[in-house]
Amino acid sequence: MKSQRLSLITAFLILFAVLAWLLRVDWGLFGDFYLRYISLLFALLGLTFILLQFVLVSRIKMLEDGFGLDRMFRWHRVFGRTGLMLVLLHVVLIIIFRLEQYGEILFELILLVGIVALLGFIITAGVASTYKKIGLAYETWRNIHLANYLLFPLAMVHSFYNAPSGSLLYYYLLLLSALFLVVVVYRAIRIFSIRRNPYEVVEVRQEAEDIWSLFFKGPYLDFKPGQFMFVQLLRNGELSSSHPFTISASPTAEYLSITPKELGDFTKTIKDTKVGDQALIDAPYGVFSFLNYGRGEPVFIAGGIGITPFMSMLRYMSDQNLDKKVTIFWANRSEKNLCFGDELAEMEEKMPGLQVIPVMSNQPDWQGEKGHLKAPLILNYIETTDNKEFYICGPPAMSRAVINELKHLDVSPLNIHSELFEL
Ligand SMILES: Cc1cc2nc3c(=O)[nH]c(=O)nc-3n(C[C@H](O)[C@H](O)[C@H](O)COP(=O)(O)OP(=O)(O)OC[C@H]3O[C@@H](n4cnc5c(N)ncnc54)[C@H](O)[C@@H]3O)c2cc1C
Repeated sequence: MKSQRLSLITAFLILFAVLAWLLRVDWGLFGDFYLRYISLLFALLGLTFILLQFVLVSRIKMLEDGFGLDRMFRWHRVFGRTGLMLVLLHVVLIIIFRLEQYGEILFELILLVGIVALLGFIITAGVASTYKKIGLAYETWRNIHLANYLLFPLAMVHSFYNAPSGSLLYYYLLLLSALFLVVVVYRAIRIFSIRRNPYEVVEVRQEAEDIWSLFFKGPYLDFKPGQFMFVQLLRNGELSSSHPFTISASPTAEYLSITPKELGDFTKTIKDTKVGDQALIDAPYGVFSFLNYGRGEPVFIAGGIGITPFMSMLRYMSDQNLDKKVTIFWANRSEKNLCFGDELAEMEEKMPGLQVIPVMSNQPDWQGEKGHLKAPLILNYIETTDNKEFYICGPPAMSRAVINELKHLDVSPLNIHSELFEL
């Protein structure tokens, strides 16, 4: 039921929009004005999808619960594109209608407001889907994307013009405006409360050549092992941008921790963090936890730094003395990339059901498993896929390849759970 909340909201809004449109149409004139009326329907549906994209990235807990933020971000992109396509169709039809009816487009101020909003949406969507190709930093495109919060009110002003006060259409637009306001106020309150409750860095630990853990002390956080958080570091009076990281600590641990691998601008500065620096933490998010799918025996499949959610889960199992059979495959290029080696060895001793299988793709002298994670290798250790629950976290290409291997082994998609380190 939790995961269906968003579908229910979407279905409700679409039905409401269609009903408002049906009541707005003067059916006696439909034959002459059909282009205008259909264009209005496209505008209403487009606006609905655009509003829903704000809801999808609002990080409202009761919507994310059971659904997962990564899925919400994916739907945000789909809804964004759908909304934009519908609004573009609205524009095309209204232009054809006006040219046919009046022989010209008739530029009014309210039309201009709509055009500015539409051009803005096109630019922000274009930048979002091409930022890597055109070499923009993640933070730059995200700041450009924030312009949508100004563009949506413009689109609403344009839409109200066509909604006679007191009509269902008018109330529908009021509802969309209210939902938008709820999203904005919710985010503002959340940001305010996060800033008022900062965490403090209590340890900076090197885990491997380019992997560091940061430990934080601060307000109690109720989370499940495997969930993630957004972190901003306040160092030398400068607040970093917000980045998502798995909480690598167990909920049973004294301190929260993250374990970033050096990759780009921000992660390369993790090692410069000092004990006593502050952190703003927005958490917990995500549904990638064995506690959410407790049916079969867990089989964990990690690629590189994708080990972090599994460390959280294994630490939790170990602290709680959970007597579980757990197999973990850990794909890396070479042992240089390994971290947590000693701790995993200790856990294997403490937990008889735990088996850790490191697999190296690029180290010919490695004494253990070598190559890529293929079905026979997996089967060799787990014997059967019956009664198993598979959890995958790693680079997108590896995750896709492993999911394919599992499909060859006839594993039901319902028993495969994956986390991508990409929103
Ligand atoms: C749910 C989740 C859990 C993660 N857990 C870990 C972890 O435990 N350890 C780890 O090393 N990495 C983790 N990551 C990845 C980590 O967020 C990125 O490596 C980091 O944000 C890169 O930032 P950068 O400036 O160093 O690199 P860049 O070179 O600027 O970015 C590399 C890529 O990281 C992503 N990214 C960059 N900045 C952001 C941002 N502000 N918000 C969202 N995505 C961004 C983009 O896809 C970008 O293309 C996780 C990501 C997600 C989504």
